[in-house]
Parts: sequence; C-alpha cells; structure tokens
Amino acid sequence: MAEKNLPFSKEQLENIIENHPTPFHIYDEKAIRENARKFKKAFDWNEGFKEYFAVKATPNPYLVKILREEGFGADCSSEAELELVKRVGMSGNEIMLTSNDTPVSEFSKAKEMDAIINLDDISHIEYLEKNIGLPETICMRYNPGDLKEGNLLIGHPEEAKYGFTHEQIIEGYRILKSKGVKNFGVHTMVASNELDPDYFIETAELLFNLIAEVNEKAGVVISFANLGGGIGIPYKPEQKAVDMEYVSEGIKKLYEEKITANGLQPLKLYFESGRAITGPYGYLVTKVLHLKETYKRFAGLDASMVDLMRPGMYGAYHHVTVAGKEKEPHTEKYDVTGSLCENNDKFAIDRMLPEIEVDDIVVIHDTGAHGHAMGFNYNGKLRSAELLLRENGEVTQIRRPQTLEDYFETLDFDGLKDFKA
Ligand SMILES: *Cc1c(COP(=O)(O)O)cnc(C)c1O
Repeated sequence: MAEKNLPFSKEQLENIIENHPTPFHIYDEKAIRENARKFKKAFDWNEGFKEYFAVKATPNPYLVKILREEGFGADCSSEAELELVKRVGMSGNEIMLTSNDTPVSEFSKAKEMDAIINLDDISHIEYLEKNIGLPETICMRYNPGDLKEGNLLIGHPEEAKYGFTHEQIIEGYRILKSKGVKNFGVHTMVASNELDPDYFIETAELLFNLIAEVNEKAGVVISFANLGGGIGIPYKPEQKAVDMEYVSEGIKKLYEEKITANGLQPLKLYFESGRAITGPYGYLVTKVLHLKETYKRFAGLDASMVDLMRPGMYGAYHHVTVAGKEKEPHTEKYDVTGSLCENNDKFAIDRMLPEIEVDDIVVIHDTGAHGHAMGFNYNGKLRSAELLLRENGEVTQIRRPQTLEDYFETLDFDGLKDFKA
C-alpha cells in the first residue's frame, strides 16, 4: 500500500502554527510546480497543448499565478473567477469561460477580456448574439448522451444539465459558421474524480469522431478540443494516480488515426483539470480541541466542515495523519469531527488512528482542490487562512483568515435604531 506522507515534520508545523493559528490550508509550491511540468510534458507532442486550470478548484490568485508561470491558462465559470484571473494579469486565449445557465454579465466580461467562450446550450448562440455580439472564436460543450457512460460522481450524461446534444452541436456549428464565426472549438466533460486512465482516452476518441463528423456535415474546421477536467486523485492510500503519460500515449495514437490520417487540420488539445493539478498538494492543518467518549470515540478538531466539505457532503475519504505519530500503530478507532451543529460534520468515521491527545496536530490530506474553495459560513464559522509553503521552505500567507468583522460586513443592521418594537 502506498504511504501518504506529509511534506513537513511536526516541528515544522509547530513553527508555522506559532505565526498562523490553526485551522489553515497549506499548499506545497514545489510539488505543484513539479506536477504542472509533468502534466505539460506528457503532451509535448501536441503543438498548442494547454491546460486551463479550473479556477474553481482553488480560487487563489497566488496559485493561479504560479500555474501561469508554468504555462497554464485558466478555466473560469463565473464573473468572480474571470475577475480573479484578470487581476493575475491574464487575458485572451489564456482564459476559457466554461459556465452554464450563464448570465449576460458573465459573457460580457469574458468578451471584454477576449477569453474563449464555451457555450453550454444552443439557445446561448442567440442570447450571446443579441446581447453582446458573437466573438470570432467560439467553443461548444458536447453532451454525448447515451453514447458515453458517465462515471459515478457526475452520473449519466443524459441526466446531466450540461452541454449540447449530438444533433444540436452539429446544428450549432452550422449556425455559427453562417454568422461569421471564424475559429471553432469543442469541449466535453463527462467525468468527475475519475481514476481510470482509459476513460480519458475514450473521451478523446468521442471528440475526434465528432470533429470528423462536423467537418463533413457542417464544413467546419475545429481547431481545438477541450477534454475537460475530472481527472481523479488517489485520496485513499491504496489508489493509484492517473498516469498522464499513458493517457497521452493513447490519445496520440487516436489522434494519428482519426485526425492526421483523415487529413483533418492540426488540433490543439486542451484540458481544464483542477483536482489533479493542486488537489494532492494541499493540507488542512488543525488541532484537537476535545476528546469525547460516549457510544463511540470522537476526536473534535478546531476545523469543521466549513473548511472541507467533501467528507460531509459526499462521504468522501480524506486521509488523516496525526503529526509526529506517523510511525505509531493505528490501534484506536475514532470519528474525527468538527464543531458544526450537523452530525455529518465528520472528517472521518470509524477511522483507525494512533492514540490521539488533546492539542495534537491533525493533518487532513488532499485538500488542495475543492477544499477551501467549497467553504461556507454556516453556524457563523469563519473561513480559514490559506498558506503557501514556498520552494525555499518559507511560509507565506496567501489568504488571511476571515474575521468577525468580515462576517458582519454585509449586514447594515444598526441594533436598537433599526429594530424598535
Ligand atoms: C469542475 C469543473 C472542472 C474541474 O474539475 P476537476 O474535477 O477539478 O478536474 C473543469 N471543467 C468544468 C466545466 C467543471 O465544471
């Protein structure tokens, strides 16, 4: 079984905690950069290859900036995410807007920034044209329906709210071409947290077939194919990371068969992966507040579901390490909880761990994507800080913790004055 190690010792954590009280998420810059380079290198055979980091996974401009330095673009799905990457200095085809049920303000901002717009529905062609005009480059999101089995997390494609049907997308290219659009892309995303590498190769095949069909039926040349996100990570010690070199090899073979051999134009391949880029390189660092023994044994942390929603929401597994006790036998069974008035506020249930003591530092693994990002303020719990472990070992705070003042900022209730009986 693969071990899940921490990039810091208990002593290092204690030093960090002196300046930054728990709970906080901390990201490992060195590991993120190495992973980004590896991802990019796997596809170096494809001219124009680009990974658009799914900003929603970890919407922190410091991380987006680091990934940009590694040659990544940004995939945005809201106005705030567009604004975030704008503040990082990004523009044009460094940015892709993949959203759904999109308000005009969002399209408008994307157009202003010259971002690539990825339409989610055939009705959006008219909506876009009427409200802001069509840009020169457009991408459309394909929902293959029953041509492809979805994976567990995202469900059957035909049940999913995303994308154009097969007929609609071919019609979409015809319409856009007739309206003067010049550059075309295609996008699909039918998986979430998928660990089977063949799944991504099959997805590429599906798109390559569609590209040939669109070329034949609508006379449209598609110049880029976005394979979406959804690449899983090994949350559990016994799971294996997706081998992107294997995925790349498989896609390359199909590319030669279906694109090159068919005389189709060179195709740029894109991904918009979030989880697989930063997920394994973030950690939620917390301390044990209380130990409780009733019908079960509970270790209550100073973090809660507001800092990491996945276990409570999906029953997702996140590995837990008690700092400094890595080598001790896991002989004790705990529910590891937060303090929300919600019984599913548990990071782990019936987890075998070393004997835990109050004030122990407990580290929750794989919080680098869809961790802090999914946080919320229920029960008046404040959002935690985000820290960056730099390549030189220094620690930088890249988001301060929320304060009580922040929490009350959107309320202009003035006590007795506004509420006289
Ligand atoms: C969520 C999402 C992603 C990123 O998903 P990951 O699981 O983080 O890779 C990419 N594209 C779209 C359209 C998404 O909704």
